Amino acid sequence: MSPDATAASRRGKLIVISGPSGTGKTSICNALLERLPNAEWSVSATTRPRRGNETNGAAYSFISREEFGRRREGGEFLEWAEYLGELYGTPLAAVTDAVQAGHHVIMEIEVQGGKQVADRMPESIRIFVLPPDMESLQARLAGRKTESAEHQARRLAAADGEIAFARDCGAYHFFVTNDGLQETVAEVMEIIEREINGA
Ligand code: 5GP
Repeated sequence: MSPDATAASRRGKLIVISGPSGTGKTSICNALLERLPNAEWSVSATTRPRRGNETNGAAYSFISREEFGRRREGGEFLEWAEYLGELYGTPLAAVTDAVQAGHHVIMEIEVQGGKQVADRMPESIRIFVLPPDMESLQARLAGRKTESAEHQARRLAAADGEIAFARDCGAYHFFVTNDGLQETVAEVMEIIEREINGA
């Protein structure tokens, strides 16, 4: 193997998980973090208000719009998007450092961001999680105690557009339907292992 090929084979993979709010993406990502050796979470920056159960710097860094704009102008994001009026972005340096150190990076991002990652880092693995049907999505969103009914309704309304965009944009090669967490995690693990092993 050439030195370049050896370095490439030691590099970690970027794993993008997308899907409408309420499809169980976060539970899937948490399970992947436990099961996949050498995996780490990409901590996004966002302008959305912190929910009561969230710690700054864990799932997200919570920053102001001014700070977000400054980082965006400075080219600090691998991708960024506006979702329901709030800004979300993935810090580029953290991702490239981790991948170069041989870690797999799990990014839970929405579809505009997924498309940008597909364009900038085509070697990434991009998986879109579908709900079994819209009724179960509605039920899951309604079960969340962390958001207002109005926020839940806006997220549900966005779901159709996100699914249509994911199907049309060509960024996602894998679509999995989450009709049971265990089975879905197994399916996603299988995809990732196959891609990592270059099969
Ligand atoms: P939430 O407010 O529920 O945490 O996230 C709203 C949406 O933003 C979800 O679809 C989530 O996956 C997405 N998201 C979270 N972080 C990022 C990011 O860094 N970039 C992009 N493009 N989307 C993100």
